[in-house]
Amino acid sequence: MVGIYKCEVYDEKLLDIVIQEIFDKLRINEKIVKGMNIVLKPNLLAIRDESTATTTHHLFVKCIAKRVISLGAKCTICDSPPGKYNKKNLLKLYEKLGYLEIEKIGAILNLDTTSKLVNINGKLIKNIEIISPILNADLVVNLPKLKTHAMMNLTCSVKNLFGIIPGERKAEIHSLYSNYDSFSNAMIDISNFVKNQITIVDAIYSMEGNGPNSGSPRHTGLIIASSNQFEIDYLVTKLINLKLEDSYIVKNSIERGILTNPSSIEIVGEKLEDIIIKDFKFPDTLSKKKFARVFNLTKFVKPYPIFDSNKCIRCKLCIDRCPVNALKLINNKVVLKDKSKCIRCFCCSEHCPVYAVDIKHILTFKRK
Ligand code: SF4
Ligand code: SF4
Repeated sequence: MVGIYKCEVYDEKLLDIVIQEIFDKLRINEKIVKGMNIVLKPNLLAIRDESTATTTHHLFVKCIAKRVISLGAKCTICDSPPGKYNKKNLLKLYEKLGYLEIEKIGAILNLDTTSKLVNINGKLIKNIEIISPILNADLVVNLPKLKTHAMMNLTCSVKNLFGIIPGERKAEIHSLYSNYDSFSNAMIDISNFVKNQITIVDAIYSMEGNGPNSGSPRHTGLIIASSNQFEIDYLVTKLINLKLEDSYIVKNSIERGILTNPSSIEIVGEKLEDIIIKDFKFPDTLSKKKFARVFNLTKFVKPYPIFDSNKCIRCKLCIDRCPVNALKLINNKVVLKDKSKCIRCFCCSEHCPVYAVDIKHILTFKRK
């Protein structure tokens, strides 16, 4: 069952009302018992103004934390964004994204950066490091932001759980599973490991265009919740009018038999057919992928990052975050020194603080 509810603005009183309704209708109240260790997992991708819709809004997280605490549970907030997973970086994120306000109501902002190698027995991934707060949780409340994604086209419930892998270890997953289907399957494996979970999507303002970092905010006015993250992502795919074949994670979860009978998912709240957004903008990479597909050029036309040296502030974040070390600073300019090395994960674009990374489709005759 998936609940889709209208919530037009980030207003604390309104959020309290809608979230209470969601907790009641989806019987989340019954899953949270006094003394339980509940972990909230928002999307804290980067320090950006909340008006850009890059991260899960702090008031949205605060109101869910309030409900959890009112039920007598211990509430911890954690995420492991890409880059160095350390106390200093976490504190900076919490402070800049307004999360210190949530600490004041009794929630714990996680600063434990330990992790443990666990067997997740996935289709592709068998053993992987998972951050400690997730391993210690009685229940994980996954709080993604609805956004487009240059590589996956959509990032929502399943992809948000990539943030349970310690920061820099994500680069290994990108480099090991570098094509769209294998990366989707890796995301499904990781998400599937978190068995006891509830997902509540912040889709009040979503991100369209060149997400997950360089897109534009889009008012969608919704909160979407379920204990089945795959069902949510299927309905979100429909909601934003993305073709199933282009929603790689959803397509693969159906092919793997994890998402069965998606056309008969029970929906409470809004009727999906009344709220479909026909003109949601997708990443530029998607239209180019389609063009290449139609003209049978997929082997030769590939998207690559292009660096605008006028915008670039030489922070070297893109160089540090590239999982395959394909970038270099040459003559004070970021350069993709070897195209054949690039796995087109777009982590460089995702982390550029000044939007200096564009994605262009380039004709290449070198097959990988
Ligand atoms: S250059 Fe950018 S897109 Fe290519 S592998 Fe590195 S981070 Fe990924
Ligand atoms: S992340 Fe952006 S600003 Fe920083 S070096 Fe790379 S292109 Fe330049």
